[in-house]
Amino acid sequence: MGAAATAEGTAPGAAGPGTVLSVRGLSVRFRLARGRRVDAVTDVNLDVAAGECLVLVGESGCGKSVLASALLGLVPANAETAGSARIAGLDLLTADERTLARRVRGRLVGLVPQSPAAHLTPVRTIRSQLEETVAELAAVRGRTALRAAAEAAAARAAFPADHLDRHPHQLSGGLAQRAATALALVGDAPLLLADEPTTGLDRDLVDRTVDELRRHVAGTGAAAGAGTETGPAPDSGGRDGGAGRRHAAARGGGGPGQGGDGDAAGRGGGREAAAWRRGPGGPSGRALLMITHDLAAAERIADRVAVMYAGRIVELADATAFFGTPGPRHPYSRGLLRALPDRDFVPIPGTPPELGDLPAGCAFAPRCDRATGLCATPPPVTGGLACHHPFPGPGPGPGPGGMATETVPATPDPEDAHA
Ligand code: SF4
Repeated sequence: MGAAATAEGTAPGAAGPGTVLSVRGLSVRFRLARGRRVDAVTDVNLDVAAGECLVLVGESGCGKSVLASALLGLVPANAETAGSARIAGLDLLTADERTLARRVRGRLVGLVPQSPAAHLTPVRTIRSQLEETVAELAAVRGRTALRAAAEAAAARAAFPADHLDRHPHQLSGGLAQRAATALALVGDAPLLLADEPTTGLDRDLVDRTVDELRRHVAGTGAAAGAGTETGPAPDSGGRDGGAGRRHAAARGGGGPGQGGDGDAAGRGGGREAAAWRRGPGGPSGRALLMITHDLAAAERIADRVAVMYAGRIVELADATAFFGTPGPRHPYSRGLLRALPDRDFVPIPGTPPELGDLPAGCAFAPRCDRATGLCATPPPVTGGLACHHPFPGPGPGPGPGGMATETVPATPDPEDAHA
């Protein structure tokens, strides 16, 4: 199948040095009965570098999780994929099931799942599941060695050793998340793929979860963030919070220990932590691709943000510019931020289009107050942006990690009063 639109500018050229994952022209289409089809993902281009956290955001049903499934070779049989997704010289889209099982899942791509409790085997202890995983992924043999390796794996994710003999239902949400993260880290995969890892968690646990993921990418390990949570108290401290404290932390206003988990790197982190986030590749050599609809979590952890709408990446931006000044440039991205309770709390009007019935032009046009007649034609992707009439950018000059942040002039349109 062919990509439906050019991706020029979204991820120009070949992947650079330090690139862990390079996606080019990735499309996923589902064939349905009576000749119907659903274009779930269309012409996605992105790179994720070592030490970098790229967060893919968008409303439910925009294609985010289909993209994640495609990267792991887990799309259903009626799906057709096109393009490429390369990691360690391997194209994930064309690899056969044996290769995916033996080389990719857990080894090249560590999956941090959406629902840790559901991901863990309910009838086995965490120790048992970790020992099985280190035996499989790290080829550890012998009872003593397995036990030690499992405990080391738990420690990497700050999972307390005295909880290893518990079953998943005996764990709080935060500890279940740490157990799942420990399993994802066992194979030392260069890419961590976190698909909605904070769904169902209260705000405090969201913050802790994304901070821990961030630390593993930065290579600072679990020690700095070894929390004090040891019991089934999943909601501790999460309801006061609110946006004010969350964003204070995200912008560097929090302090060590704030929130009670002793998480210096995370609580005092946020944007202020950009220096260690953006070290030269990060000592871990690991990259994180996190998929979420939670913009607060994205703000807390992202180096770059990719915004998906109706199966397409419509904006790819540096996180500091995106969440700060000048803000997003695509009207949909602006709408997402404006809808946050601690911003304008104004929802985007209308609803997303059906992926099986996309309009010919810009899919956001029916909801966009900047739309003109020109928007009846698909906007080309230029400088990481797919919009005929974007908001002003931060000015010329390349951003970090090869990010295109240059000003993109609006497409001339005689009808346009906004450009
Ligand atoms: S291309 Fe037009 S309709 Fe689409 S987001 Fe931009 S201004 Fe709005």
